[in-house]
Amino acid sequence: MTLSNSTAEIRRLDAAHHLHPFTNTRELNARGARVITQSSGVYLQDSEGNRILDGMSGLWCVNAGHGRRDIIDAVSRQLEELTFYNTFFNTTHPSVAELSGLLSEVTPPQFNYFHYTGSGSESNDTIFRLVRYYWELEGKPEKSIFISRRGGYHGSTVAAASLGGFGSMHKQGGLPIAGIYHAPSPDWWSYGGDMSSDEFGLHVAHQTLSLIDAIGSDRIGAMIGEPIMGAGGVIVPPKTYWPALSAGLKERDILLISDEVICGFGRTGEWFGCELMGTEPDFLTMAKGITSGYIPLGAVGVSDRVAKVLLEKGGEFAHGHTYSGHPAACAAAIATLKILREEKLVDRVRTDIGPYLKQKWKTLADHPIVGEAVIEGLIGAFQFTKDKSSRKGFDEDARIGMIAREHSFKNGLVMRAVGDRMVIAPPFTLTHEEADELVSIAQKVIELTY
Ligand code: PLP
Repeated sequence: MTLSNSTAEIRRLDAAHHLHPFTNTRELNARGARVITQSSGVYLQDSEGNRILDGMSGLWCVNAGHGRRDIIDAVSRQLEELTFYNTFFNTTHPSVAELSGLLSEVTPPQFNYFHYTGSGSESNDTIFRLVRYYWELEGKPEKSIFISRRGGYHGSTVAAASLGGFGSMHKQGGLPIAGIYHAPSPDWWSYGGDMSSDEFGLHVAHQTLSLIDAIGSDRIGAMIGEPIMGAGGVIVPPKTYWPALSAGLKERDILLISDEVICGFGRTGEWFGCELMGTEPDFLTMAKGITSGYIPLGAVGVSDRVAKVLLEKGGEFAHGHTYSGHPAACAAAIATLKILREEKLVDRVRTDIGPYLKQKWKTLADHPIVGEAVIEGLIGAFQFTKDKSSRKGFDEDARIGMIAREHSFKNGLVMRAVGDRMVIAPPFTLTHEEADELVSIAQKVIELTY
């Protein structure tokens, strides 16, 4: 057996030398890691030959599906033509210029300038500095505070993890850094009480604006939010929430950062989640789906308002990464955008596979242990409940999610567990038959967990 198909040897080496992200490595080593060896279309294969439907598009990223020849060939051609050159010190290359042009076409009209990073976390750390730099150039350096939200996820680097609203992350390594306030989450199912969803949306928007007013909007530079919270459990906000909140931010001259790392590039059925929510952000955080996950790439969209100040009043922005605009990553992104456009995959999410899956996915909520089943485009979740009428979750016993996740994997479907919520975000190429398979495994998982 070669190393590539000897499960025991892979597990041995992994256990001996690999510290995994977001994993208790000691517990993992006692169990032995799952070994994924191959992928094609919407399926993965493990080292024991099991076929698993990738209901999470990897980590919300393989939107165009696995093994796309066009993307693989584009990367390979690029590596042969120009393996690497940087974009520092008065240099550019054809792929980064082409990608920037394409991004200006697919992003909302106020975005015409893009800065590149290696990940969503780096993009948010970059935006953190850009916001403060912008207000310094505008002569208002005191506008340095950020508003974020409990349950929001913005990455693992220092500013990004501080912006995120996860206590478990803040407990490690002395986070959050100063100057960040976390507003409530617009999670109606968990916190809405007797209010209707619309009432609750307005209520949380007003709570957030009251927090801002208490701090003083002249001290606040920006608010960051995902259009739909992803890693927080796919929290689709009430439809009243973003319009009321973004209007309040505009009145107070606070910039809006739309973290589109998950929602961007079609996941919600619009090119960007901010378009679905009706907001007009000043920054876009992008990663994941920009290359369909084939090669790491992050990007920051900078609105004309901000870019004008940076270009006219600023000098050198003393910031950047070796791999800012890596040629191979840009080639993967260009090929991905071409596929999304030519195959009209964003329309497909909005008008075909999204509505098809939604109608099936919603039936999961008929089960007594499922509180709600939500889906927008191809991002969805269901919530385990102890009692539907009082909307009581299992959060004090999040093991239910882990148990369900194991059942799901064993039955051939990747779903992610976020506490007592089970999450999906399948590739946009999912067929109707594959959607049926996904829902029927989810049903089985609910029965097995019940
Ligand atoms: N922002 C959001 C909304 C995310 O979901 C993630 C990752 O899941 C990030 C930022 C961080 O991106 P990365 O893991 O590429 O650093």
